[in-house]
Amino acid sequence: MYDPKSPHAEDFINHDEILATLAYADANATNAELIDTIITKAELRKGLSHREASVLLACTLEDRNQKIYALAEQIKKDFYGNRIVMFAPLYLSNYCINGCVYCPYHLKNKRIPRIKLSQDEIRREVIALQDMGHKRLALEAGEDPVNNPLEYILESIKTIYSVKHKNGVIRRVNVNIAATTVDDYRKLKDAGIGTYILFQETYHKDSYEKLHPTGPKHDYKWHTEAMDRAMQGGIDDVGIGVLFGLERYRYEYAGLLMHAEHLEAAMGVGPHTISVPRIKAADDVDPSSFDNGINEDTFAKIVACIRIAVPYTGIIISTRESQSCRERVLHLGVSQISGASRTSVGGYADPEPDDAKSEQFELSDRRTLDEIVHWLMNMGYIPSFCTACYREGRTGDRFMSLCKSGQILNCCHPNALMTLKEYLMDYASPETRRIGEELIAREIEKVPREKVRDIAKRNLAAINDGQRDFRF
Ligand code: SF4
Ligand code: SF4
Repeated sequence: MYDPKSPHAEDFINHDEILATLAYADANATNAELIDTIITKAELRKGLSHREASVLLACTLEDRNQKIYALAEQIKKDFYGNRIVMFAPLYLSNYCINGCVYCPYHLKNKRIPRIKLSQDEIRREVIALQDMGHKRLALEAGEDPVNNPLEYILESIKTIYSVKHKNGVIRRVNVNIAATTVDDYRKLKDAGIGTYILFQETYHKDSYEKLHPTGPKHDYKWHTEAMDRAMQGGIDDVGIGVLFGLERYRYEYAGLLMHAEHLEAAMGVGPHTISVPRIKAADDVDPSSFDNGINEDTFAKIVACIRIAVPYTGIIISTRESQSCRERVLHLGVSQISGASRTSVGGYADPEPDDAKSEQFELSDRRTLDEIVHWLMNMGYIPSFCTACYREGRTGDRFMSLCKSGQILNCCHPNALMTLKEYLMDYASPETRRIGEELIAREIEKVPREKVRDIAKRNLAAINDGQRDFRF
């Protein structure tokens, strides 16, 4: 039985409810009256149910689709302005005992070198990341209780936070590791992680079991209920996502929203972020062997429909996607992007040739962080290295109240500009710095509260004089 409050995976991600939702969405794909009612509800910016949102995703009326895109763009502007938060993944170890068929790190792949970074090697990676200008990392490791036990992850987090190289510092470590116990989540929380990220890969239970034939990840229930345990362990900010291409995208979209509804209903706060990776080629992985690939138009529609359905949830896109694809979805709802990523273990300090086999997936966007910052600013975006909320304890529902209070422009905007200023001073090329300084001069005037604006201007001047780490 479908029940968003239930602690059981098969109740809150209920297969029959998803099928009924898809049938309802199909039946109403050209129902202009219903679609208009849903769009009107979405305009209130309080989100949509999975059924309502699925109708918009299925909608085939061109004029209504244009309205959906326009609304997604408007909601993006209202909630996130022109800021884009930057981060980079850091791979600690590619040892893994799981059998995920879409990932080259699966246990049976004997062709890739298995690498686990020592604490010294992690320091080198972190210095390389700091020297690019990164402040926010997403830590990645395969599941392997012998090679990558939780103690190793905890020690690595400590190491990452401890590295202070020149003006560099990592201020927020998000963690993407396998589903674990409440006790382990509590330890991660105590280690000071930001968001706990775990992709569902697919919400379709039968497909999930086939795609994960061996290893602990095979257990759909354990995996799907992980976010509940993470929240019970005190982690307020969780990041969900699916790997588009494994199953039918409309099934996954309904599942994603049902997961968000469940977290809100059962745990009191929805997901902090949603990631939208698409399956990519890698060693031993051929994306054409999966039948559910989605084209760029569909991908854009999914991003727009997520933006409308869960306005308070950040949307993340990685360097799996090309520059042009990223450009298209940025204004439809994406609020965080990775930049200058390496998806191989040790890839920052010792970059591999582009044709190396040890990346977790093929990257489409291989530009440097300076190039990405430059590109974003040229399009009128503010690249933000802000980590303020987590460090001010504004997580979970406290973060949501910040969003809902309309104070974002008095908080995120000056924080974005101050962290961008740090980046420009410490890491940018002369041309990037030049256009960045112009952007800051323009954008600082948009901070609505005079007092906040004045403090931010003083802080910007102090950063210019060598001080660092201001925040609201
Ligand atoms: Fe291991 Fe994760 Fe790759 Fe699966 S997706 S094989 S759990 S590293
Ligand atoms: Fe994110 Fe908080 Fe910084 Fe705004 S102030 S960008 S919500 S961390």
